[in-house]
Amino acid sequence: MVNQTSDRSSNLSHALVIGGSIGGLLAGRVLANHFDQVTIIERDIYPDEPVPRKGVPQSQHLHALLTRGQMILEELFPGLKDELIAAGAPVLEVGSDSAWYSRFGWAVPFNSGIKMIALSRGLLDFCVHRRMNAIANVRFLEATTVTKLLANADNIGIAGVSVRWRNSLDDSIREEQLFADLVVDASGKTSKAPEWLKELGYIPPKETVVNPFVGYASRIYRRPENFQAEWRSLFVQSAPPLGTKGGVLFPIEGDRWIAGIAGINRDYPPTDEAGFLEFARSLPTPAIYEAIKEAEPLTPIYGYRDAENRLRHYDSLPRYPENFLVVGHAACAFNPVYGQGITVAALEAQTLDKCLHQHSNRNFKGFARLVQKQLATVYAVPWMAATSEDYRSPGTEGGKPDFVTRLMHRYMDGILKLAMNNTDVYRTFLEVMHMLKPSTALFHPRIVIQVLGQSIKTNSEKPGF
Ligand SMILES: Cc1cc2nc3c(=O)[nH]c(=O)nc-3n(C[C@H](O)[C@H](O)[C@H](O)COP(=O)(O)OP(=O)(O)OC[C@H]3O[C@@H](n4cnc5c(N)ncnc54)[C@H](O)[C@@H]3O)c2cc1C
Repeated sequence: MVNQTSDRSSNLSHALVIGGSIGGLLAGRVLANHFDQVTIIERDIYPDEPVPRKGVPQSQHLHALLTRGQMILEELFPGLKDELIAAGAPVLEVGSDSAWYSRFGWAVPFNSGIKMIALSRGLLDFCVHRRMNAIANVRFLEATTVTKLLANADNIGIAGVSVRWRNSLDDSIREEQLFADLVVDASGKTSKAPEWLKELGYIPPKETVVNPFVGYASRIYRRPENFQAEWRSLFVQSAPPLGTKGGVLFPIEGDRWIAGIAGINRDYPPTDEAGFLEFARSLPTPAIYEAIKEAEPLTPIYGYRDAENRLRHYDSLPRYPENFLVVGHAACAFNPVYGQGITVAALEAQTLDKCLHQHSNRNFKGFARLVQKQLATVYAVPWMAATSEDYRSPGTEGGKPDFVTRLMHRYMDGILKLAMNNTDVYRTFLEVMHMLKPSTALFHPRIVIQVLGQSIKTNSEKPGF
């Protein structure tokens, strides 16, 4: 751990990041291109092996790294992909290695040309942190908690943060102030920034919460030796409004599987042995249950429930603090079943980098607001995708589907139905899901015609477009 400092006199430009999980690490990576010094403040001590940690409780759960996210990570950390593979992370061909069961049955496997790395969240964070540790102008303050933001002299912006840490020499609690030219909040969904801003006289951001009441339960298993199947990963998609249950079985490093089962509309999966297996057995297909029932569990069963969509509208604050940004889950968190969070954090880092390149003189008034507005455009589409899907469930709180959303549900059902045995539509669907193409790709005339054609053929069939 680096010694604590509160250097106010230095002429070197300095950026501070609150929170050193994936959002903070990726923001820190690009800030290192533009600031003389980057300090990442993390209240945990980083583990010295690829395991979950307390400050990121969701790291006990399955994390799909979408292909677009993986590509950006590779740009930020060249060679990372090989490091992950060398650590044992399997590479999946998304169309042929993954068996996908939807409300319309099993998709026919095909070679999609889309590859993804399957890994534990612990491994991803461990490797990214290791790479960050090797960057000369990045330093970490571990076991250090940010307790508030500091206003600049004329109270129009943020000048730094107060931190609290435990001195290991005499076990005393220390408090001090750290100053910077830019402060980035990446402290996750439980970020205290709205309260801290309020203390400084700002109106905190409005929040939109769309809660489908989703619950997760996850467990890691040893993949049985000589296990034979036509798939390497399983994806059993829930089918709301009636089908509340879904699940994924994913290979991860160390010849292991992670099984994640989920329920929406308060159909929370149990975390006791018998209940977990029974929930898995009751999914629309028992394929996950069949695979894990005899497999050796390597961890307890972990549950997670605070998985609502939460958007803090920093981009529309009436008075925006200069020199302050909010990224990752602290700004926008999604229902995790769509696997978007890490990729959105990576896209945000790219956007931040672009903004900093475009404005080499970033001391002008309004710079931070301008960047925050750009960041908001990054999570706008993933937010819409997640929440409009969640509106399918009648128990979702925080809004109801309007006419257009209901029409979209029917159109997406048409896409899903076609994708089960039409490789053109399946590939486009996967490209959109992995954020390799915009969602408008699903509305290409070539695809619309096929969806409409199917609808005419099966006019009386429900559901379907
Ligand atoms: C159950 C579940 C499953 C998920 N599955 C996927 C998936 O499949 N694919 C995907 O892409 N995403 C997934 N996500 C989303 C993903 O976990 C998040 O997008 C991502 O972790 C957000 O990163 P972050 O850095 O913004 O916040 P977090 O990961 O929450 O990290 C916040 C960090 O800030 C630190 N911190 C907090 N307060 C302070 C403070 N005051 N001072 C100092 N440090 C502080 C914490 O210790 C922590 O390290 C899932 C989420 C959940 C809940």
